[in-house]
Amino acid sequence: MRLTQKADSDCLTPVKADKSLRHGGKRRIKMDRIEFETTICSVCGSAACARWLSDLRDRAFSRPETFTLVRCENCGHIYQNPRPTEASLRFCYPPDYGPHHAMRDGVAARLRRWVLQREAVACAARTPPQSHLLEVGCATGDFLEIARARGFTVAGVESDEQAAGRARSSGLEIFTGVLKEAGFHASSFDIVYMKHVIEHLPDVRGTLSEIHRILKPGGWLFVATCNICAPLTRCFGKDTFDLEMPRHLNIYSAASLKRQLDGSGFRVVTVCHDPVPNSWIHSCRLHLEGHSWARAFFRLENPLALFMFSPLSVTLAALGLSSRIQVWCRRHE
Ligand SMILES: [Zn+2]
Repeated sequence: MRLTQKADSDCLTPVKADKSLRHGGKRRIKMDRIEFETTICSVCGSAACARWLSDLRDRAFSRPETFTLVRCENCGHIYQNPRPTEASLRFCYPPDYGPHHAMRDGVAARLRRWVLQREAVACAARTPPQSHLLEVGCATGDFLEIARARGFTVAGVESDEQAAGRARSSGLEIFTGVLKEAGFHASSFDIVYMKHVIEHLPDVRGTLSEIHRILKPGGWLFVATCNICAPLTRCFGKDTFDLEMPRHLNIYSAASLKRQLDGSGFRVVTVCHDPVPNSWIHSCRLHLEGHSWARAFFRLENPLALFMFSPLSVTLAALGLSSRIQVWCRRHE
């Protein structure tokens, strides 16, 4: 592993001036309301990195800042650097952030509910009856309600107060905050479910370490995230929906996610490629930004858009090239 140490003054200006961004330590730069800090690769710990994509914008909420993704020169992992400080992340999730709201009616909501039910069945197939299940980043608790109906004893952790409150109103036990503050007993869960959360975490290693502590030996961890190595990224570049700047701090491939989990005491059992067409539909909308017809057509609520991209999504998933991956792994005994 190569660690390149340079003066802090080199941390940001080279983003524009040089192809390589190398740094060590932390430095904070104020840009409007978001404060940035430089960071290191969460997968291997290396500070050596090169600019991969720059001048990325917040396509969902039109924040004024631009964002940069770098590629680790040691392991190839893609991550945001510099990135918003942990304190600034709250500015990145405004009240109308979609995942913090409950499922609505319509085709997309029914499809999502079916997917969550399928995943609850998969959780049940891997664990004894009446197992204890924790969801990290449970939002409004849609999955937890489904898992509870399947016989699991469930608990959730959610950092957004409003989303946590909505989940709690359904009678769910929810801790508001981050996992390491929840103080769960060691070895208290049979399975931890974490869907499209790992890419948002400012402290991936710390969170995985805490999951390892609270899982029973041999317990299961389910992780779903985006796949940067999918053809979607090559097709759309900066318009790729899954980049989701600035909320995605780490963007994994199957290989980098496996390495991240291996390094935290988990044994990867299965890597699945999800056949959902969501990323294709959203990326088309971003690519055709400015065309009102595209905004109206490329929506998950449009059955025609779902139908149009489903064969492609199913084919890519069968070939192991989906933009969404799911990993089932176990805590070492
Ligand atoms: Zn690395």
